[in-house]
Amino acid sequence: MIDKFVPDMYYQSIYRIDYEKLAKQGVRIVVFDLDNTIAGIEFDKPSKEAKELMFKIKELGLRPVLMSNSSKKRVQPFRDELEMDSCASARKPFKKNYQKILSIYRAKPEEVACIGDQFLTDILGANSQGMTSILVNRLCKKDRFVTLFNRIIEKIIIKILDKRDLFKKGKYYD
Ligand SMILES: [Mg+2]
Repeated sequence: MIDKFVPDMYYQSIYRIDYEKLAKQGVRIVVFDLDNTIAGIEFDKPSKEAKELMFKIKELGLRPVLMSNSSKKRVQPFRDELEMDSCASARKPFKKNYQKILSIYRAKPEEVACIGDQFLTDILGANSQGMTSILVNRLCKKDRFVTLFNRIIEKIIIKILDKRDLFKKGKYYD
């Protein structure tokens, strides 16, 4: 069970990820978390850098998709400005909306990479579906209220993973 929390890749931020390599490995769909992955929770619009990144990703022939446990109201401005498909109130790590993504884009799990800042939602969700899981550091210390409990559990998970040499904070890999 604890293996399900080990990210396949770990980068400092979404801007450090080697998307070209992902494309070469056969990835077609790149699923992005929103809060603390693309933007801090105090921002209600994407940065210029985020816009440029999505443009670059599309140019590589990859399709970026926004998948967030936050509300539609929160997700919509990002979806519109970044010009990407979105899934709000996604209930990660539960299976349903991951499967929906596979069916909408007629993709196999190995063609999907999921990027996010949380072990309990983003990493567990992707690993459970056989997709590539990519962890990034959270953008800021501030979290949504619903996330605070997850962070407590996450601390315990990181401790266990560290003890077993499965994951070390700040030790990036791909
Ligand atoms: Mg997040």
